[in-house]
Amino acid sequence: MKAAVCYEFGKPLVIEDVEIDQPQAGEVIVKTSACAICHSDIHRIRGDWGGQPPIIAGHEAAGVIADVGTGVSHFRVGDHVVVSLLRSCGRCFFCLIGRPYNCEGRFPQDERPRLRNKEGVILAQGLHTAAFAEFMVVDQSQVVVISPEMPLDRACLLACGVITGWGAVVNTARVEAGSGVVVIGAGGVGLNSVQGAALSGAVKIIAVDMLDHKLEAARGFGATHTINAGSQDPVAAVLSLTEGRGAEYAFITVGSSKAITQGAYMIRQGGIAVIVGMPSNQDANFSLNAHHLTYGRTVIGSPMGSTRLSVDIPRLVELYRQGRLKLDELISRRYPLDQINEAIESTERGEALRNVIIF
Ligand SMILES: [Zn+2]
Ligand SMILES: [Zn+2]
Repeated sequence: MKAAVCYEFGKPLVIEDVEIDQPQAGEVIVKTSACAICHSDIHRIRGDWGGQPPIIAGHEAAGVIADVGTGVSHFRVGDHVVVSLLRSCGRCFFCLIGRPYNCEGRFPQDERPRLRNKEGVILAQGLHTAAFAEFMVVDQSQVVVISPEMPLDRACLLACGVITGWGAVVNTARVEAGSGVVVIGAGGVGLNSVQGAALSGAVKIIAVDMLDHKLEAARGFGATHTINAGSQDPVAAVLSLTEGRGAEYAFITVGSSKAITQGAYMIRQGGIAVIVGMPSNQDANFSLNAHHLTYGRTVIGSPMGSTRLSVDIPRLVELYRQGRLKLDELISRRYPLDQINEAIESTERGEALRNVIIF
């Protein structure tokens, strides 16, 4: 099968034929139909998060089940599925307390590599998925069956960007109707926090970004106010839009310490600031005045939108079917696999909401 392999951090991916194993017990093979490019892939192949190449990235995917391993009873060859990096063992402490997104289980993939090139060199499976390839071998907990009527190039967006942004609002913070919400970053994740806030009944939805075309997109997703952080102080601007008090909620969807600090100063007493985007380096720290928090403010993290795949993916597919969740508008451009480097560069330059590789 063809795959896009990262042999050296920061260098273009190499498209070549690679070998994939048969599925082991509890695993499925999915023929990839579409995979969007997420900033986490870029961090991974630029070396921001450490690790060693060669590696195949890609984790926001959808496709069709091509084979199943022993013990897989819920999936059949031909099922259309969303494929996510989230996997859950169902037996560990976190799975048993209802937080499968914090699963600490071990999986057969961790013990035995599943991908190698023609010379027999082992290729790491980036973000548990390796979806920049024509086939993926993943744990069955990573896939959710969807209706064959759901277009797969839009379904793939649900696997990461949508659940991360929407889930932070709906699952992690449980935004109340009538609230005021700030979303920092109006990209492929932030726009989903904006539409999650709109679907939750937030009255004021303030989008903050540096790029006017992204702020314009945010209006289309439900933002009621926009702030260009390049031309004005975003904290002062949010306070002036919220009677000087701050918003009930802030969602920080860009992975920068500065944005996290700003988000924490945008919330009112009793408000909640949610760190949604993964920081771009491992040692990202931020500091806050302790008095600011003593008035009852909370800063929390949102692991992948606190998503339970089998609960949230069907909900999102239904919202899309009803015309209440925007997915078509998130796709900036579609590319074939052999133009993946162009798609990645465009994402890095901040031009795209989501670029999608079509197989
Ligand atoms: Zn992602
Ligand atoms: Zn688990």
